[in-house]
Amino acid sequence: MSEFIPLSVPNFGAREAELAGQAITSGWVSTSGGKVTEFEEALAAYVGMPRAVACNAGTSALHLAAMAAGITRGDEVIVPTLTFIAAVNPLTRYVGAEPVFIGCDDSLCIDPDAVEDFCANRCELRDGRLYNKATGAHIKALEVVHVFGNMADMPRLMAIAKRYGLIVIEDATEALGTRCTDGPFAGKFAGTIGDIGCYSFNGNKIITTGAGGMVVSNHADWAEHAKHLSTQAKADLLQFLHDEVGYNYRMTNVQASLGLAQLERLEGFIAHKKALYDRYVAALDGVKGLRILPFREGECRSNHWFFSLYLKDSGLDRDTVIEKLQAQHIQTRPVWALIHEQADYPRNEAYGLDKALDYRKYIVNLPCSTNLSFEDCDRVIEAVLGL
Ligand SMILES: *Cc1c(COP(=O)(O)O)cnc(C)c1O
Repeated sequence: MSEFIPLSVPNFGAREAELAGQAITSGWVSTSGGKVTEFEEALAAYVGMPRAVACNAGTSALHLAAMAAGITRGDEVIVPTLTFIAAVNPLTRYVGAEPVFIGCDDSLCIDPDAVEDFCANRCELRDGRLYNKATGAHIKALEVVHVFGNMADMPRLMAIAKRYGLIVIEDATEALGTRCTDGPFAGKFAGTIGDIGCYSFNGNKIITTGAGGMVVSNHADWAEHAKHLSTQAKADLLQFLHDEVGYNYRMTNVQASLGLAQLERLEGFIAHKKALYDRYVAALDGVKGLRILPFREGECRSNHWFFSLYLKDSGLDRDTVIEKLQAQHIQTRPVWALIHEQADYPRNEAYGLDKALDYRKYIVNLPCSTNLSFEDCDRVIEAVLGL
């Protein structure tokens, strides 16, 4: 019986055990201890920001970002519909705001044409603030998710946001390490271009702390506010005075130790992802009507987090493919169900959906772990060719 090949799993080794072991033997296993600050500084240095705020999940990071950006009850936020639910709930339901859903372009990220069309034709700008003509609500922000590690079209999206007075929140939970190599944002990392950005260290992400997240911001006071909110909004440590409603969203010292070890290995992980991706492309792209979807080339360096096998012209059915590969102990998955079709969002507007509906129907994500061997990658390729 052949070994199970998982979709995307953690890659831990001696270095993770060493640093986490140090935290454990020191007794500093909870939310105090020096490793959290060290990990914040190391992550900030890696992405070229002055400050990063650690927290216990990417979902918490997004909630902190929404609050730091001042998104509140009655506001609306433009969000992508082709994404994970945790990209949307924290910016909308958690803070009492409503989403306007927009489809994707061929990068799978939010479509600038549809965003622009919505702002220009369904909204009006008054005193530098954008109002939704259908609801009368103030549209305060645009959320950009860098789907599967692919950089969204930031030059266009940032220009649209500027024109319409929108705050830009980047969900870079899947895109740590993705950066611009050319254009107006050359040298900048996904998550550091808009007003505020978030990373995740969940077990399936490119580096993991088991669970964890990080917030970075181009507004120093927003980052400090996120830190304050993540630590119960303590105004006076000794006297237990709190100046607003805070949360316990802190990262632990053990998690931060894992993060430090993983961050040392990130560039190596990205190189291996790229090698796996190139192997899938060479063997499958254009064969039997199959495609491996591209990452934005030329102006970006992607972290190649998740690979998308696109079935449209192959005559194969998505769910049958997933089942058949599962029978050969190969784990794959479909892309997410669109958020505007999820239980909690039946009445929200949704525009420019054609490509999102198409990609939802025809994508299967292939195994892409940073510890996937070329041998196992070839087994996946053989299984796909045999479908
Ligand atoms: C993983 C992920 C999140 C949430 O991160 P967690 O650390 O799992 O809470 C949010 N948005 C997107 C797009 C993600 O992929």
